[in-house]
Amino acid sequence: MELENYKNIRDYVWKTLIGGKVKSLPVDLFELCRNLSRKPKVKINLYNYTYGFNMDLITPQMVKGKVAFTTKIFNEVYIFYNDNIYPNARVRYAIAHEIGHLVLKHNYKKSMMTVKEREAEANKFAILLLAPAIVLHCCNAIKTNDIMMICDISYSAAKIRAKSMATYEELNKYDTLALEREVHKAFQEFIDDYNNKY
Ligand SMILES: [Zn+2]
Repeated sequence: MELENYKNIRDYVWKTLIGGKVKSLPVDLFELCRNLSRKPKVKINLYNYTYGFNMDLITPQMVKGKVAFTTKIFNEVYIFYNDNIYPNARVRYAIAHEIGHLVLKHNYKKSMMTVKEREAEANKFAILLLAPAIVLHCCNAIKTNDIMMICDISYSAAKIRAKSMATYEELNKYDTLALEREVHKAFQEFIDDYNNKY
């Protein structure tokens, strides 16, 4: 992924954390969607489809082999997820990935990107959203196991994040951008509590 592209996704993640009023880890995706839905024209509903829904609106092809998927019903966005999937971290990642598609407006610029590029972007968005570097840094949770626990993400996702964190720690350029500082501020209470506990 090109650096410019990465920075673009990272900025969208920071704006999503701020707009979603996220203040603690693990990121509460339900609260995030509720808060994002306060903006006009945006309404994101998270729906566990294993509980049943008006199934006329969901075709078996939409569900097949998917942990989560997004569809628009009466102008509202529905992210359906399968809560029977184990572990829960996989479901969380899939929901964050779907939020990524929405925030990055992949549905509007379909023609400009390949499916592979879109999926890579949504995956990047998901990991940056669920494991924000500034918070991990301030909590000194930079190793795989700590990241897995604090973010409620899978071991494999945490391992990838730990690798990135090692690079960020070396660069040590935290808090240089306004958006990141804003995220830091929102998480300050959580960071203080975490550091008092561990
Ligand atoms: Zn996708």
